[in-house]
Amino acid sequence: MNKTFERAPAPTAVRGACPHDCPDTCALLTSVLDGRAVRVQGNPEHPPTDGVLCTKVSRYTERTYHPERLLQPLKRVGPKGAGRFEPVSWNEALDDIAARLNAIAARNPEAIVPYSYAGTMGLVQSEGMAARFFHRLGASLLDRTICAAAGGEALVQTLGGKVGMKVEFFAESKLILIWGSNSIASNLHFWRLVQQAKRDGARVICIDPRRTETADKCHEHIALLPGTDGALALALMHELIRNDWLDHDYLANHTLGWEQLRARALAWTPERAAQVCGIPVRQITELARDFGTTRPAAIRLNYGMQRVHGGGNAARLVACLPALTGAWRHRAGGLLLSSSGHFPLDRAALHRPDLLGTRRPRTINMVTIGDDLLRASSPAFGPKIEALVVYNSNPVAVAPESAKVVRGFAREDLFTVVMEHFRTDTADYADYILPATTQLEHWDIHLAYGHTDVLLNRPAIAPVGQARTNTDVFRALAARMGFTEACFADDDETLCRTAFGHAVPFDELLDKGFARLPLPDAPFANGGFPTPSGRCEFFSERLAATGLDGLPDHLPNHEVPGSDARFPLAMISPPARNFLNSTFVNVQSLRDIEGEPLLEISATDAAARGIASGDVVRVFNARGSHLCKASVSPRARAGVVNGLGIWWRKLGLDGTNVNELTSQRLTDLGRGPVFYDCLVQVVPHGTADA
Ligand code: SF4
Repeated sequence: MNKTFERAPAPTAVRGACPHDCPDTCALLTSVLDGRAVRVQGNPEHPPTDGVLCTKVSRYTERTYHPERLLQPLKRVGPKGAGRFEPVSWNEALDDIAARLNAIAARNPEAIVPYSYAGTMGLVQSEGMAARFFHRLGASLLDRTICAAAGGEALVQTLGGKVGMKVEFFAESKLILIWGSNSIASNLHFWRLVQQAKRDGARVICIDPRRTETADKCHEHIALLPGTDGALALALMHELIRNDWLDHDYLANHTLGWEQLRARALAWTPERAAQVCGIPVRQITELARDFGTTRPAAIRLNYGMQRVHGGGNAARLVACLPALTGAWRHRAGGLLLSSSGHFPLDRAALHRPDLLGTRRPRTINMVTIGDDLLRASSPAFGPKIEALVVYNSNPVAVAPESAKVVRGFAREDLFTVVMEHFRTDTADYADYILPATTQLEHWDIHLAYGHTDVLLNRPAIAPVGQARTNTDVFRALAARMGFTEACFADDDETLCRTAFGHAVPFDELLDKGFARLPLPDAPFANGGFPTPSGRCEFFSERLAATGLDGLPDHLPNHEVPGSDARFPLAMISPPARNFLNSTFVNVQSLRDIEGEPLLEISATDAAARGIASGDVVRVFNARGSHLCKASVSPRARAGVVNGLGIWWRKLGLDGTNVNELTSQRLTDLGRGPVFYDCLVQVVPHGTADA
């Protein structure tokens, strides 16, 4: 019998960019069939992506069509935080929000605070229209410090900007130090370059308090105590000087402050640093020998190590190292922490700070939102915070010292709007929840901090449900609040074009989805750093002018291990492999892999407390208490526990997460958070406090 088979329609592939807070900024290809995204893959034509996505984002359709996706605006009907809402129309929600914000602004617009971070890294859906709106309003400014502020400031003060090696040349390095990074979990495409270098004979050394999946695969793992990286860097300098593994010509011609740094480093013998870092002397001397005698040698620094009191100084010290040996001379030598400073972003055109006019609103640091929400009006602080507009962030889960953050968000007199995909911990405290589009549903444009390509994201599907783009919501609010400036009429494609102006060919972005920046292979082979002196600034006049030490030093943690007998363990809270900050925690297939909130603890520390793997334990300090499951594991060194994050509080064993324990104290540079500078005690659940 003859049978006619119809050829199935082929899906359309739409080019996009991964929006998540990850250095890799992958190029996506979304397959769309009958208006529905059926698959998200890596674009094989984009060299840094090479056709591969991480597990998290390859499940992006599961997240987009998640049964709990917010599909319509919701208005609170119960007490704050109870999570009781009823559907409302967009018009009703926007009219009421505009009226409430207008009423507050009439008293003092600085009582309104935007709260956002890298829920999307897209330049348009993050601050593209939002910054214009809040500038025009005269709202408080937000210091967006929660991740990378100390390390970023360190790079600016030392190298002149967030600049460094081109990532692709790590594949040619003969020595790679992976410093404070679990690359396999959070910088996957870099790890592929490392594997290539390893195959070609490179030695790879991981420096991290935790024995991560990355450390497992390196030739050596140096498990220093949290917050001691600066001491290690100084001792490495000591050994480079003592053995004369120095590039004297590079030091003389391309650095500033060498004599002062030399004198400081000579006080840091390997023995002294070994004691501070809690590692053998041999590891320091051998690391110095490797770094001093191998060419080309490259450092992949990441932001984990700067989340401690002295994180800025430590990042400055590590960033100085390549100039001592002249590692920058080779394209496969030097350092990469962030490449974002290479991009010719026209921030002023996008954010329009000119809309402030002569007004100079106060700045709220997002790290201290817990304290700040609980402050009364005062001459020093300014007006009490009366309204929060949260987008691209989940502060109730991710901000430190949760008890205070929750108390602040629970204020009945606080008006809170949350733009979100899901009912996060923060959304539970909203007065209005507005359903936001995902990356598959809107235009955006991206720079990267782990490579040097600009990426364009085209919408692949129509907004799901009644979801609206962040830009559209701010445009609608602007119209209701009487903001008539022409910039509020810019559509998203116009905003994409505005981000880089003529500095990046937009036609190429439309055509290929990405465009490479024209940069030299070895940007600092002959100096030319973008600092005021044009040199790598060991000594920073700019820091000295602010009253800080112009020369980097090791600064001990706020909470030094061993300094408080009540809390004898140092806790760090690195991301669980299948989560990205607090994103993806509600994707069932990823949560199934992670299981439950885990605390990794060494066999020694577990035995001393009668703890076995799988036991429920209570982790506590003076700020709070958190229940989780113990994993007795070689991933934790003695004296340090690893609380894997960042779980949503409401999915935790007792409605908390690790941030119940972290503090709102700040870093030395950049006013950043100190998530990994945190002492705790751990006991089996049910044990009374000692
Ligand atoms: S999270 Fe990182 S590795 Fe995963 S797809 Fe996005 S950019 Fe790529």
